[in-house]
Amino acid sequence: TYQIIVAELPEGTLTSGHFKMREVAMPKPAEGEVLLRTILMSIDAANRSWMQGATYREAVKAGDAMATYAICEVIESRSDRLAPGDIVAAESTWSEHVALPANKVQKLPDVRPLSNLLSVYGIAGKTAYHGLIGVGRAMAGETVLVSAAAGSVGGYVGQIAKAMGCRVVGIAGGEEKCRWVRDTLGFDDCVDYRDKSFFKALRAVCPEGVDVYFDNVGGSVLESALFMMNERGRVVCCGAISQYDSTKPTGPRNLPGLVVVKRLRMEGFIVMDFARDDARALRALRTWVDAGRIKVTEDITDGLASAPGALIGLLAGDNKGKRMVRVAPD
Ligand code: NDP
Repeated sequence: TYQIIVAELPEGTLTSGHFKMREVAMPKPAEGEVLLRTILMSIDAANRSWMQGATYREAVKAGDAMATYAICEVIESRSDRLAPGDIVAAESTWSEHVALPANKVQKLPDVRPLSNLLSVYGIAGKTAYHGLIGVGRAMAGETVLVSAAAGSVGGYVGQIAKAMGCRVVGIAGGEEKCRWVRDTLGFDDCVDYRDKSFFKALRAVCPEGVDVYFDNVGGSVLESALFMMNERGRVVCCGAISQYDSTKPTGPRNLPGLVVVKRLRMEGFIVMDFARDDARALRALRTWVDAGRIKVTEDITDGLASAPGALIGLLAGDNKGKRMVRVAPD
């Protein structure tokens, strides 16, 4: 069976040379463990930040199999918690097969296609819901601005905010993506942060300022967004993808001045903080999906070998919607 290891930790931009595929013996589950067949691996911006050092989880080191959140099928069980055929979520690795303690994996409901459990009913949908509602406290009639709007979390943030009756403006890279965000995801507007006149365009599409800014990127885009905030606005700090692949961090220069003057609240969160509200989030997401208010956008590459390229591409912005790798059929 095969797995992909981090051959060398990146210092700047991540490249395929930082990874190596290797053949390993089929893992044997010990007492209390299950043998898993990987079906889908989530490709997340956070995967890159795990290579920068310990965060809310242990750092990934050179020589380790690359870490990932995955959906797997139990193919052999030495635990009475799980049986062959069960579908589980696991903190796993870029591997076709892994053996893990049964109490470290989570049995999943039988939702088909399984990919929905990584996109709208997975971390992406839950992060968008909890961040926008639990942290941002968005309300109907307010203006919500969200970066990485064509991405997975950002796309759901905007669609949820629209379903709640907010005015929604996205920020994305390139005119083609901005058009897709407007036409396919139904945002009121979307502006290209790579364009020279980005700030001017942002001002033009937010004539009444911004009440909630959902920040997925940090850096200079956050700096521009801070200038747009209305008094008592909320800045939801979800991630800082502009900083993950670079050795020279850049940040807003207007902190804390604007936060003081505008009485802003900036608050970070990790999706797990809101686990107690997951059932409510999932019910709401299902209602919106069933009513056609939220489009499920997925971007799936095929085969374990496609994983390094899928992550490198995500950091460069070549995805629309939730990126994942299919390792085996459902
Ligand atoms: P996305 O699907 O949003 O993909 C990442 C996108 O980021 C790319 O498509 C790209 O789009 C954009 N991007 C890349 N580099 C830059 C840059 N320098 N400046 C601006 N945009 C950039 O990924 P995810 O949905 O997985 O993650 C989105 C964010 O949410 C990340 O910051 C991630 O860390 C965070 N996150 C946080 C969680 C939490 O619990 N707090 C949980 C899950 C995710 P473009 O073409 O527009 O540049």
